[in-house]
Amino acid sequence: MDAEKGDAFLIDGIKRGDQRAWRQLIERYQGRLLAFARSRAPSLADAEDVVQEAFVGFAASIANFDPTRSLETYLFTIARYKLFDLMRQRKLPTQSAPADAEDWWDRVSPDDGESPSRLAVTVEAAAQQRHLLADMLRRLIYEMRDRQAFDDLQVIELVFYVGRRNLDVAELLDIDQKAVAGIKFRAIGKLQRYLADASPDAVACLDEAMADVTVAQVWRENRLTCLKRSTLGAYLLGVLEEPWKSFTQFHLDVVGCPVCVANLQDLQAEEDTLRTGANTERMFASSVGFLKPQ
Ligand SMILES: [Zn+2]
Repeated sequence: MDAEKGDAFLIDGIKRGDQRAWRQLIERYQGRLLAFARSRAPSLADAEDVVQEAFVGFAASIANFDPTRSLETYLFTIARYKLFDLMRQRKLPTQSAPADAEDWWDRVSPDDGESPSRLAVTVEAAAQQRHLLADMLRRLIYEMRDRQAFDDLQVIELVFYVGRRNLDVAELLDIDQKAVAGIKFRAIGKLQRYLADASPDAVACLDEAMADVTVAQVWRENRLTCLKRSTLGAYLLGVLEEPWKSFTQFHLDVVGCPVCVANLQDLQAEEDTLRTGANTERMFASSVGFLKPQ
Protein backbone atom coordinates (compact mmCIF):
# COMPACT_ATOMS: atom_id res chain seq x y z
CA MET A 1 0.00 0.00 0.00
CA ASP A 2 1.49 3.40 -0.83
CA ALA A 3 1.78 6.04 1.84
CA GLU A 4 -1.10 8.20 0.67
CA LYS A 5 -3.59 5.35 0.41
CA GLY A 6 -2.45 4.19 3.84
CA ASP A 7 -3.04 7.68 5.23
CA ALA A 8 -6.55 7.87 3.76
CA PHE A 9 -7.34 4.49 5.31
CA LEU A 10 -6.11 5.67 8.72
CA ILE A 11 -8.03 8.95 8.54
CA ASP A 12 -11.21 7.04 7.66
CA GLY A 13 -10.72 4.79 10.65
CA ILE A 14 -9.97 7.67 12.99
CA LYS A 15 -13.10 9.51 11.89
CA ARG A 16 -15.10 6.38 12.71
CA GLY A 17 -13.59 6.42 16.19
CA ASP A 18 -11.00 3.66 15.73
CA GLN A 19 -8.34 4.37 18.35
CA ARG A 20 -5.94 1.81 16.86
CA ALA A 21 -5.87 3.87 13.68
CA TRP A 22 -4.95 6.92 15.73
CA ARG A 23 -2.12 5.02 17.41
CA GLN A 24 -0.86 3.89 13.99
CA LEU A 25 -0.90 7.44 12.68
CA ILE A 26 1.20 8.56 15.64
CA GLU A 27 3.62 5.66 15.15
CA ARG A 28 3.98 6.52 11.49
CA TYR A 29 4.68 10.24 11.89
CA GLN A 30 6.14 10.89 15.33
CA GLY A 31 9.72 9.99 14.40
CA ARG A 32 10.04 12.38 11.48
CA LEU A 33 8.17 15.17 13.30
CA LEU A 34 10.42 14.74 16.32
CA ALA A 35 13.53 14.82 14.12
CA PHE A 36 12.26 18.09 12.64
CA ALA A 37 11.41 19.64 16.04
CA ARG A 38 14.67 18.48 17.65
CA SER A 39 16.75 20.31 15.09
CA ARG A 40 15.01 23.58 15.99
CA ALA A 41 13.67 23.48 19.57
CA PRO A 42 15.90 24.48 22.51
CA SER A 43 15.73 21.03 24.14
CA LEU A 44 14.53 17.48 23.55
CA ALA A 45 11.70 17.99 26.07
CA ASP A 46 10.56 21.06 24.12
CA ALA A 47 10.70 19.13 20.86
CA GLU A 48 8.56 16.37 22.37
CA ASP A 49 6.06 18.96 23.60
CA VAL A 50 5.86 20.48 20.12
CA VAL A 51 5.12 17.09 18.53
CA GLN A 52 2.61 16.22 21.25
CA GLU A 53 0.80 19.52 20.71
CA ALA A 54 0.82 18.98 16.97
CA PHE A 55 -0.98 15.65 17.43
CA VAL A 56 -3.43 17.23 19.87
CA GLY A 57 -4.08 20.03 17.36
CA PHE A 58 -4.62 17.54 14.56
CA ALA A 59 -6.92 15.35 16.68
CA ALA A 60 -9.04 18.35 17.59
CA SER A 61 -9.38 19.56 13.99
CA ILE A 62 -9.46 16.32 12.01
CA ALA A 63 -12.99 17.09 10.77
CA ASN A 64 -11.54 20.04 8.80
CA PHE A 65 -8.77 18.01 7.18
CA ASP A 66 -9.10 17.86 3.40
CA PRO A 67 -8.16 14.24 2.52
CA THR A 68 -6.95 15.25 -0.95
CA ARG A 69 -4.01 17.00 0.70
CA SER A 70 -0.83 15.37 1.91
CA LEU A 71 -1.16 14.38 5.56
CA GLU A 72 2.59 14.59 6.03
CA THR A 73 2.74 18.18 4.79
CA TYR A 74 -0.25 19.06 6.97
CA LEU A 75 1.30 17.58 10.12
CA PHE A 76 4.61 19.35 9.46
CA THR A 77 2.72 22.61 8.99
CA ILE A 78 0.99 22.21 12.36
CA ALA A 79 4.30 21.26 14.03
CA ARG A 80 5.90 24.38 12.53
CA TYR A 81 3.15 26.47 14.00
CA LYS A 82 3.54 24.94 17.45
CA LEU A 83 7.29 25.48 17.23
CA PHE A 84 6.76 29.09 16.18
CA ASP A 85 4.47 29.61 19.21
CA LEU A 86 7.02 28.07 21.57
CA MET A 87 9.84 30.27 20.26
CA ARG A 88 7.67 33.35 20.55
CA GLN A 89 6.61 32.50 24.12
CA ARG A 90 10.25 32.01 25.08
CA LYS A 91 11.23 35.16 23.18
CA LEU A 92 13.72 33.15 21.16
CA PRO A 93 14.56 34.19 17.62
CA THR A 94 12.32 32.49 15.07
CA GLN A 95 14.39 33.77 12.19
CA SER A 96 17.99 32.99 11.50
CA ALA A 97 20.57 34.93 9.54
CA PRO A 98 19.50 35.26 5.88
CA ALA A 99 22.70 33.61 4.71
CA ASP A 100 21.90 30.39 6.52
CA ALA A 101 20.50 28.08 3.86
CA GLU A 102 19.53 25.41 6.40
CA ASP A 103 16.79 27.48 7.93
CA TRP A 104 15.13 29.04 4.90
CA TRP A 105 11.87 27.27 5.74
CA ASP A 106 11.75 29.06 9.08
CA ARG A 107 12.00 32.40 7.33
CA VAL A 108 8.85 31.63 5.38
CA SER A 109 6.71 32.62 8.33
CA PRO A 110 3.63 30.47 8.86
CA ASP A 111 1.74 33.75 8.78
CA ASP A 112 2.57 34.18 5.09
CA GLY A 113 -0.64 32.45 4.19
CA GLU A 114 0.63 28.89 4.39
CA SER A 115 -1.22 28.25 7.65
CA PRO A 116 -3.02 25.04 8.66
CA SER A 117 -6.41 26.75 8.65
CA ARG A 118 -5.80 28.14 5.19
CA LEU A 119 -4.58 24.76 4.01
CA ALA A 120 -7.68 23.10 5.42
CA VAL A 121 -10.32 25.52 4.21
CA THR A 122 -9.68 27.21 0.90
CA VAL A 123 -12.32 28.82 -1.21
CA GLU A 124 -13.52 26.17 -3.64
CA ALA A 125 -12.76 27.99 -6.90
CA ALA A 126 -9.33 29.13 -5.77
CA ALA A 127 -8.61 25.62 -4.56
CA GLN A 128 -9.46 24.20 -7.99
CA GLN A 129 -7.17 26.67 -9.72
CA ARG A 130 -4.36 25.78 -7.35
CA HIS A 131 -4.93 22.07 -8.01
CA LEU A 132 -4.66 22.76 -11.71
CA LEU A 133 -1.53 24.85 -11.25
CA ALA A 134 0.00 22.08 -9.14
CA ASP A 135 -0.77 19.54 -11.88
CA MET A 136 0.82 21.74 -14.54
CA LEU A 137 3.87 22.38 -12.38
CA ARG A 138 4.18 18.63 -11.88
CA ARG A 139 4.03 18.22 -15.67
CA LEU A 140 6.77 20.81 -16.09
CA ILE A 141 8.97 19.10 -13.48
CA TYR A 142 8.45 15.60 -14.97
CA GLU A 143 9.19 16.95 -18.41
CA MET A 144 12.48 18.41 -17.14
CA ARG A 145 13.36 15.11 -15.45
CA ASP A 146 12.54 13.14 -18.59
CA ARG A 147 14.94 15.13 -20.69
CA GLN A 148 17.51 15.00 -17.89
CA ALA A 149 17.45 18.78 -17.49
CA PHE A 150 18.43 18.49 -13.85
CA ASP A 151 20.53 21.65 -13.96
CA ASP A 152 17.48 23.70 -14.93
CA LEU A 153 15.36 21.91 -12.37
CA GLN A 154 17.85 22.77 -9.64
CA VAL A 155 17.64 26.43 -10.63
CA ILE A 156 13.85 26.62 -10.46
CA GLU A 157 13.72 24.58 -7.27
CA LEU A 158 16.00 27.12 -5.58
CA VAL A 159 14.06 30.04 -7.02
CA PHE A 160 10.54 28.83 -6.24
CA TYR A 161 10.69 26.21 -3.50
CA VAL A 162 13.39 27.92 -1.45
CA GLY A 163 12.63 31.49 -2.54
CA ARG A 164 16.23 32.43 -3.35
CA ARG A 165 17.07 35.53 -5.34
CA ASN A 166 18.54 35.11 -8.82
CA LEU A 167 21.88 36.43 -7.63
CA ASP A 168 22.08 33.88 -4.79
CA VAL A 169 21.13 31.03 -7.10
CA ALA A 170 23.82 32.10 -9.58
CA GLU A 171 26.46 32.12 -6.83
CA LEU A 172 25.31 28.85 -5.30
CA LEU A 173 25.37 26.95 -8.60
CA ASP A 174 28.29 28.90 -10.05
CA ILE A 175 26.45 30.07 -13.16
CA ASP A 176 25.65 33.43 -14.72
CA GLN A 177 22.84 35.48 -13.21
CA LYS A 178 21.38 36.05 -16.67
CA ALA A 179 21.21 32.29 -17.18
CA VAL A 180 19.18 31.99 -13.97
CA ALA A 181 16.76 34.68 -15.14
CA GLY A 182 16.44 32.94 -18.54
CA ILE A 183 15.68 29.52 -17.03
CA LYS A 184 13.09 31.04 -14.73
CA PHE A 185 11.52 33.02 -17.57
CA ARG A 186 11.26 29.95 -19.82
CA ALA A 187 9.78 27.89 -17.00
CA ILE A 188 7.04 30.43 -16.32
CA GLY A 189 6.36 30.72 -20.07
CA LYS A 190 5.99 26.95 -20.42
CA LEU A 191 3.74 26.84 -17.39
CA GLN A 192 1.50 29.48 -18.95
CA ARG A 193 1.26 27.44 -22.16
CA TYR A 194 0.38 24.27 -20.23
CA LEU A 195 -2.29 26.19 -18.34
CA ALA A 196 -3.70 27.65 -21.55
CA ASP A 197 -3.89 24.13 -23.04
CA ALA A 198 -5.67 22.83 -19.95
CA SER A 199 -8.27 25.56 -19.75
CA PRO A 200 -8.63 28.95 -21.47
CA ASP A 201 -9.41 30.67 -18.16
CA ALA A 202 -6.62 29.01 -16.27
CA VAL A 203 -3.84 31.41 -17.25
CA ALA A 204 -5.57 34.01 -15.11
CA CYS A 205 -4.53 32.07 -12.02
CA LEU A 206 -0.93 32.82 -12.92
CA ASP A 207 -1.23 36.58 -12.84
CA GLU A 208 2.00 38.12 -14.15
CA ALA A 209 2.83 40.21 -11.09
CA MET A 210 2.04 37.40 -8.67
CA ALA A 211 3.47 34.46 -10.66
CA ASP A 212 6.57 34.01 -8.46
CA VAL A 213 4.63 34.06 -5.22
CA THR A 214 1.86 31.79 -6.46
CA VAL A 215 4.22 29.20 -7.94
CA ALA A 216 6.29 29.24 -4.73
CA GLN A 217 3.22 28.67 -2.56
CA VAL A 218 1.85 25.87 -4.71
CA TRP A 219 5.28 24.22 -4.91
CA ARG A 220 5.64 24.30 -1.12
CA GLU A 221 2.09 23.17 -0.39
CA ASN A 222 2.48 20.18 -2.67
CA ARG A 223 6.19 19.66 -2.02
CA LEU A 224 6.54 18.92 -5.71
CA THR A 225 10.21 17.91 -5.74
CA CYS A 226 10.24 16.16 -2.38
CA LEU A 227 11.47 12.61 -2.20
CA LYS A 228 9.53 9.49 -1.37
CA ARG A 229 10.49 7.85 1.89
CA SER A 230 11.50 4.76 -0.07
CA THR A 231 13.87 6.90 -2.20
CA LEU A 232 15.40 8.35 0.96
CA GLY A 233 15.76 4.80 2.31
CA ALA A 234 17.60 3.72 -0.83
CA TYR A 235 19.80 6.81 -0.60
CA LEU A 236 20.64 5.97 3.02
CA LEU A 237 21.58 2.40 2.06
CA GLY A 238 23.75 3.72 -0.77
CA VAL A 239 21.80 1.86 -3.45
CA LEU A 240 20.16 4.85 -5.16
CA GLU A 241 21.40 5.25 -8.71
CA GLU A 242 22.27 8.35 -10.72
CA PRO A 243 20.86 10.81 -11.62
CA TRP A 244 18.52 10.37 -8.63
CA LYS A 245 21.39 10.10 -6.21
CA SER A 246 22.73 13.54 -7.15
CA PHE A 247 19.28 15.05 -7.20
CA THR A 248 18.53 13.64 -3.74
CA GLN A 249 21.83 14.98 -2.46
CA PHE A 250 20.99 18.39 -3.88
CA HIS A 251 17.51 18.40 -2.32
CA LEU A 252 18.93 17.47 1.08
CA ASP A 253 22.18 19.43 1.16
CA VAL A 254 21.71 22.49 -1.06
CA VAL A 255 17.95 22.99 -0.80
CA GLY A 256 18.02 21.73 2.79
CA CYS A 257 14.37 20.61 2.59
CA PRO A 258 13.32 20.39 6.26
CA VAL A 259 10.73 17.65 5.72
CA CYS A 260 13.04 15.38 3.72
CA VAL A 261 15.96 16.03 6.10
CA ALA A 262 13.70 15.10 9.05
CA ASN A 263 12.59 11.93 7.24
CA LEU A 264 16.19 10.96 6.55
CA GLN A 265 17.15 11.52 10.20
CA ASP A 266 14.17 9.43 11.28
CA LEU A 267 15.15 6.59 8.93
CA GLN A 268 18.69 6.80 10.23
CA ALA A 269 17.44 6.55 13.84
CA GLU A 270 15.31 3.55 12.90
CA GLU A 271 18.43 1.85 11.62
CA ASP A 272 20.54 2.78 14.62
CA THR A 273 18.28 1.70 17.46
CA LEU A 274 15.22 -0.34 18.13
CA ARG A 275 12.40 2.00 18.99
CA THR A 276 10.79 1.75 22.37
CA GLY A 277 7.04 2.19 22.58
CA ALA A 278 7.33 4.84 25.29
CA ASN A 279 6.96 7.88 23.07
CA THR A 280 4.01 6.52 21.16
CA GLU A 281 2.18 5.78 24.41
CA ARG A 282 2.72 9.30 25.69
CA MET A 283 1.63 10.93 22.43
CA PHE A 284 -1.37 8.62 22.21
CA ALA A 285 -2.55 9.13 25.80
CA SER A 286 -2.28 12.91 25.59
CA SER A 287 -4.12 13.33 22.30
CA VAL A 288 -6.68 10.55 22.00
CA GLY A 289 -9.21 12.40 24.19
CA PHE A 290 -9.36 15.19 21.62
CA LEU A 291 -10.82 12.93 18.96
CA LYS A 292 -14.49 13.66 18.73
CA PRO A 293 -16.97 11.20 17.30
CA GLN A 294 -17.74 12.42 13.75
ZN1 LIG B 1 11.70 17.66 0.43
